[in-house]
Amino acid sequence: MTRNIVVYCGAANGNSADFTATAIAVADWIVDNRYTMVYGGGSVGLMGTTAKRVLDRGGSVHGVIPKILRDRGTAMEGLTQLSVVPDMTARKHMMLELGDVCLALPGGPGTLEEISEAFSWARLGLNNNPCIFLDVHDFWKPLAQMFDTMVANAFLTAEDRKKLLFTSSLDSLNEWISSYEPPAIRQYHTSTSDERSSEGGR
Ligand code: AMP
Repeated sequence: MTRNIVVYCGAANGNSADFTATAIAVADWIVDNRYTMVYGGGSVGLMGTTAKRVLDRGGSVHGVIPKILRDRGTAMEGLTQLSVVPDMTARKHMMLELGDVCLALPGGPGTLEEISEAFSWARLGLNNNPCIFLDVHDFWKPLAQMFDTMVANAFLTAEDRKKLLFTSSLDSLNEWISSYEPPAIRQYHTSTSDERSSEGGR
């Protein structure tokens, strides 16, 4: 059965050729590992670069684009499949439903929002896909540190923090994906002191 990898990445290219080179390397990895790429359906930025490369290599790409963006003419032509959905919320749901893995390349607020939601939902038991941040020039390092800060301040368990992979190496992905187990469904504590000991101490 074909597996789907959801790729979140910038609708811009960034200011370094290394971002584009990484998007191309990711596309090659997707094809070599026989994934279908699921993404936002755009033709611009790293989104377009990755999708185009997968298609050029003979791979499959399923775009999921909200009607409003399709009507602005930003959809990629020639995709294997293009789903036009009513809005961004429907798009994010569909992408997660289709996906087996979530991978974020460098990007802007849209990328951050989508992969953050995927991880947040994993903790609620609504997303069983591993969430991976592919680093280029330490792009995601401040976010990794932010998650560490959440653990230090007892807003995130150390155990759940370990469910996120930050890596600059595509070679590490397969082992991570095959051994991944979703977080235990999040527990809540009514008393502040309980929460302190539970969130930070696990
Ligand atoms: P950003 O990271 O802010 O550049 O936004 C990229 C993310 O937002 C992608 O993962 C898409 O889901 C969505 N997005 C933003 N602009 C577009 C566009 N022109 N076409 C399709 N999706 C887009």
